[in-house]
Amino acid sequence: MPTELERLAAKVRILFLDVDGVLTDGGLYYDVEGRIMKRFDVKDGLGIKTAQKAGLEIVVLTGLDHAGVAERVRELGITEYVAGRHRKSPLVEDVLARRGLTPEEAAYLGDDWVDAGPMGLVGLPMAVADAVPEIKALARYTTTRPGGRGAVREAIAFILSAQGRYAGLFAHWTGA
Ligand SMILES: [Mg+2]
Repeated sequence: MPTELERLAAKVRILFLDVDGVLTDGGLYYDVEGRIMKRFDVKDGLGIKTAQKAGLEIVVLTGLDHAGVAERVRELGITEYVAGRHRKSPLVEDVLARRGLTPEEAAYLGDDWVDAGPMGLVGLPMAVADAVPEIKALARYTTTRPGGRGAVREAIAFILSAQGRYAGLFAHWTGA
């Protein structure tokens, strides 16, 4: 019998991701020219490609505008990407409306206060392991791994496993 949480995850068709502290560890590396560098996790990348292959759409919303993030998002084939907007709830509502999806068909993975609004909208609010306490309190699922260190992969694995699809997607790589 699926748990209540697994029933919520089974409905999810779209996953919204924050960038800093979710797709990255939240670190901002400044060089002497004042340019910022960020670090992404390659296992999250394969998780995102796997999700897309399975028809679970990935959307990235970030309050900070950064050319490196735009490049990573492009590499991952994410077409729905909004940067530089701190109020994310209207963005989530707009994406869902354009696709004809309900809030119950959406999940959101966040780490900090700017994620509280959209997490209150979606059917499956999720937090990374090192999210601030107020965000963890809003989440129905909290990853065991921190942001930028596999949390996104874990969230995707949880959703696709609840849908009975994750093991089959791995089988593609075993040659089975
Ligand atoms: Mg964040």
